[in-house]
Amino acid sequence: MTNIISICDKLDRAKLKKDAFLDERRQRAVENVFQRSCCAIECEKCGRPTPGACSKGGCPQQDDQRVPYHFCENCKEEFTDYIERLKGRGDPDCYWRNEAWLEVWSTWINHRAALDRHARSKEFARLLQEVKDSTPD
Ligand SMILES: [Zn+2]
Repeated sequence: MTNIISICDKLDRAKLKKDAFLDERRQRAVENVFQRSCCAIECEKCGRPTPGACSKGGCPQQDDQRVPYHFCENCKEEFTDYIERLKGRGDPDCYWRNEAWLEVWSTWINHRAALDRHARSKEFARLLQEVKDSTPD
């Protein structure tokens, strides 16, 4: 009898441990997405702190329609130059911004777009709902 209880107890504990691990992964998945919001205090590309996290309603970075990301000044300048180079222009003094550099930016933008698609997916919406339902008010 003791053995049966012991096995059940072990199974319960294993389930609780698995549930806790799943909860932790749910929480992390949500946090990862919200760290990339427009109100983030770090640059979306390089992670450096950015000045002036936006207050509700007026995000200074969103006023600049050419830069749809929350960047530090350096990444903002690079992104703007990247867009200019795609149009056949760009700053000629920055000779190191070559084909490989363009590829770095296009890869980052594609990666970022994939993250956005994931954040808008119905599976992610389900995750948000589950996390919301399991969070006490
Ligand atoms: Zn940056």
